[in-house]
Amino acid sequence: MRSFHYERAQDIDAAVQSAADANASYLAGGTTLLDLMKLDVLRPSTVVDIGSLEDHFGSIEVNRSGLKLGALVRMADAAEHPEIRRDYPMIAQSLEKAASTQLRHMATLGGNVLQRTRCAYFRDPDTSACNKRVPGSGCAALEGLNRTHAVLGTSSQCIATYPGDFAQALIALDASVMVAGPEGPRSLSFEDLHVPPGETPHIETVLQPGELITSFSIEAAPWTRRSIFLKVRDRESFAFALASAAIALDMDSAGGKVQAARIALGGVATRPWRSHEAEALLVGKPFSREQAEMAAEAAFSGADPRPDNAYKIELGRRCLTAALCRAAAMELS
Ligand code: SF4
Repeated sequence: MRSFHYERAQDIDAAVQSAADANASYLAGGTTLLDLMKLDVLRPSTVVDIGSLEDHFGSIEVNRSGLKLGALVRMADAAEHPEIRRDYPMIAQSLEKAASTQLRHMATLGGNVLQRTRCAYFRDPDTSACNKRVPGSGCAALEGLNRTHAVLGTSSQCIATYPGDFAQALIALDASVMVAGPEGPRSLSFEDLHVPPGETPHIETVLQPGELITSFSIEAAPWTRRSIFLKVRDRESFAFALASAAIALDMDSAGGKVQAARIALGGVATRPWRSHEAEALLVGKPFSREQAEMAAEAAFSGADPRPDNAYKIELGRRCLTAALCRAAAMELS
């Protein structure tokens, strides 16, 4: 590992000033940053440790108006929270399936949504061309090993899959993100946080140098209880998603008609992926497996596969169809 300057932030203002340099990184749980520094993929000149800010940004608030999660909440604490498990089951399930027990007790929610891709070429700084790591160097995955890569939201410069699970739950539930930074606090829709790779795959979010996620908010809504997260992976014990679906439905109790649908996909796209096309096919109609299959077809209509990952289209469709059927069949108390 290369040498770097370490600072332990005493308050939020000191943290954002210390990290305003474009080559600075925040350190929270450290489960992504330290790995990538040891691999020599990330080379920050300054590391600003924000663990001391847990008193300000480490709490969970659930009330009638919604859910607020501090960015320094540990994944395990949110996943085990009884009211989140009851009222926002998709959130708890996405966090439970996102990492091993040890990692869930260390990693924070803010760090989790900003984790970097698992593309093997990105994590191999000695030999691989990678536009995300070194802009303009090429993309070894386009003609190389791309079994785990994305089929949605890709570009000619990068096809790396966004690796997280929790982000799919946030984007499905219309979450907002609160950010602190050198220019002061701001709030944005979680759907606007991540950007597609386009011509600049090294830019993954709209966060500016020094900006720091402080919390996530989800407004209470009729669909949050009827919500699930389904993940398909190589190993059920722990692995990144090959395909996942985060579903929330509001259904008319009398006729089974879908009144509102929220659908997000993971493991198949370059960023957290909301499928408004699939939602539109369900809303206003009685739920059926056939309707779910049509929605899944629509969700992948824009897919652009490579030779090794074309299977993800059918896998993703089946995952989404199964998740929709399970959500529709949930019995709510
Ligand atoms: Fe790099 Fe993206 Fe290509 Fe992977 S897919 S090698 S991250 S540019």
